[in-house]
Order: sequence, then C-alpha cells, then structure tokens
Amino acid sequence: MRIDTLDVLRCPYCGGRLSLVDSIFHRRTADAIQDGILGCHCCIFPLVDGIPVLHVLPASTLARDHLQAGRPELARRVMFGLDDDSQAEAFDAVASSETATYRDIVEALGPSFEGGYFLYRFSDPTYIVAQAVARAVGSAVLGGAPAKGRRRAIDICGGSGHVTRTLLDLSGAPPVLADLYFAKVWLARRFTAPGCEPVCCDGNAPMPFARGAFGFAMCTDAFMYIWTKRQFVGEMERLVDTGAGGEPGAVLIGHTHNERTWSPSHGQPLSPEGYAELFETIEPRVFGEGNLFTDVVGGGPLDLTRRDSAAALDASPALTIVASRHPDVFTRHPLTQPKAAAGELRINPLYAVEPDGDRLRLKLAFPSEEYADEYGACRQYLPDALTLDRSAVASLATGQVSGELTELLRRKVIVDLPKRYY
Ligand SMILES: [Zn+2]
Repeated sequence: MRIDTLDVLRCPYCGGRLSLVDSIFHRRTADAIQDGILGCHCCIFPLVDGIPVLHVLPASTLARDHLQAGRPELARRVMFGLDDDSQAEAFDAVASSETATYRDIVEALGPSFEGGYFLYRFSDPTYIVAQAVARAVGSAVLGGAPAKGRRRAIDICGGSGHVTRTLLDLSGAPPVLADLYFAKVWLARRFTAPGCEPVCCDGNAPMPFARGAFGFAMCTDAFMYIWTKRQFVGEMERLVDTGAGGEPGAVLIGHTHNERTWSPSHGQPLSPEGYAELFETIEPRVFGEGNLFTDVVGGGPLDLTRRDSAAALDASPALTIVASRHPDVFTRHPLTQPKAAAGELRINPLYAVEPDGDRLRLKLAFPSEEYADEYGACRQYLPDALTLDRSAVASLATGQVSGELTELLRRKVIVDLPKRYY
C-alpha cells in the first residue's frame, strides 16, 4: 500500500486516522507498506501483502495475530481462506510464479472461488453498460488534464476489479478498489486493474475513508446484496462531499436489481423510488438499463439526459442510479474507442476458432445454457459467425487499434484483456 493512501483511510468505527504501528513487526519501504499493523483511536487492523484489512471479521483477527507474531506468509494464507496446508502450498507456488495467469490463480483457489464466467466478463452485457456509464460519469467529474490535478475514483464492492480497470486512466491518484474479499482485490491489483489501490472492508459497515476524498464513488452489480443500503448510500455521498464551494462529485450505482421485476441472482433489491429515497444530500436519477444498453450497442452517444417513465423503470430488471450536481454529468456522452490496447488484444473466448486457409472461421459458442440465458443479449453485438483474415489476427499483437479492428473491438469480437489473463 502506498504510504500516501493513509491520507484517505479512516477507521470505520471511530473515524480516526490510521498509522503504522512501528513497534510491532512490519515490512515497509520509504513510500509503501508491505505488511504491518495499522492503529487508530479504537483498535488495530492488519495490513497484509500490501492490502489494509479494515474490518474485524474472524479472518482479520487471525491475520492480525499472525502479523504480530512475525508470520506474514500465514497472515496471507488466512486472508485467502487457505486453511488446508497442501492447498496453501500449491497456491503459494502459483502465486509466486511470474508467468502465472489470472486463470491459474483462480483455479488454485479452488472451484468455490469465482464460480464461473470471469473469462467472458469483459464482453458481457452488464459489463459493457457499466463500463460505458462509469467512463462517462467519471470523465465528467474527475477533471481534465492531469496537470490540473484530476480527482480520485473509488470502486466499492468492485470484486476482482473488472470495472476498476476502466477507471485507471481517468483517476488522478490510482483508483481505490474496496471489497470484502481479499483474494479478489489481490487479483485485481496484479492483473485486472494493475496499479489500483486495494482495500479490504465490509460494505455493511461505515466506509473506511475520509469525507470528500473522492470525486467519483461507484458500485456496480453488488448493491442489491448490501443489507445496510441507507448507510451505504449515505457513505457514498460523504466520500464525494467536498463541502460548500467544492467541485461537485458523483455517485454511481450501476446494475442493481429491481424489486418489481425478477432477475437471476435477485438479491434484496428495492423498487426504483425506494432506491431514489436512499439519497439524502444529492438528488439521484434512476435509469432502466435497457435504454443505456441500446445506446452502447448502437455506438453511442450514451444519453444521460433521458428521463425514463415510472412504468419503464418498473419493467426494467436492472437499474442504474446516478447522483450528481456536476453540470457535465446529465448530458449525451460520446463513446470513443481507444487507439491502443490497455492490455492484450485477443479474439473473444466466446468464439470457437477454426483455421480455413488464409482465414479463421469464428463461431459463437456459449459455455453453457445458463450463460446463454443470463447473458444472451450479447448476441446483439456479437455475430453468430464471421471470418477474419489471418493478417488481421496477426496485427492484434501490435496492440494498435485501427481500421477494421476498431469496429471488431467495439462489437467485442476482439477484446482488450488484462495481460496474462488466461
Ligand atoms: Zn478506530
């Protein structure tokens, strides 16, 4: 963890600043802490493998005991949930290999860990809307040229950092990724959102950050699983509260389910007006995800001037909520394609690929019927079948996006994946 991250961290329970307890075992450099104990007015928390663990659940307490006894490797095993010694040793071997992929590490964590479709995450319909809205709102509120001092973004309950990835070039200081699951934020820092600042904390507790520390606070595809929704939204408003005269920030809750319309993995959703009433200091707008999806599939602009009717919202399985007083937020946002890959350009793994002379034949092949049921809307941008010249495929290695690649990337036939993803 960067030392300067201490400036934005606060104890979730007493609100006090946190500092490294020098008298207890720790490993640090001039500008980063690798392992150690952070203390506030009321308690102490472990910082394990560069990640502060700011909750007091049993694993945190056990990891803290290991650190106090000078056993950082065991503290890390506890945080990864590895209680079987042989599995832990196998995991340590994979995790310390520089050539290990995201997939290798997920597999070493066992079948109960990710539960599925991470390979396809970057092209699923939920993700492409979340990414477009996060970029549109984030670009509007985080500020212009880096020299002028861009503000910082935070992705709360961001899991393994798939959406955090899209904030990397928008956030001034590295975006913060907060999640309950240590293994997920650890993977994010290494693969999906390299350079992000991970923090392990409990979404049902007060958030361990200072008032006004961020210009943009977001949470996608997780809010319906939060029990303390009022506190959570109040905390998001607090994190972007820069006070009277400060530049307005934004709060985004993307892809949260709707009490009035059933969806898979339903959670404990609210009605559209129930969500709106959670906001006390910034008036929110609620959008049905369907119209935003249509904007994205059509190549933009993403129209945040729209006002969906109550009937349209009631019929939407998923909702997106944006709260901001910034004048650039509720506008029409063009959707641009990058000129160069952030990671590696690859053929979308949803395609089966067959060589055919100078060309490759691609055929859409879903991994399961469940995937087709939940994410089948991707057929609106992924063609069932197509052929690509081998020369076009060879050009993927350059990482440059031009010519026909621009459209293939926009349609997600080609995906820009993190390096060493699988
Ligand atoms: Zn405290």
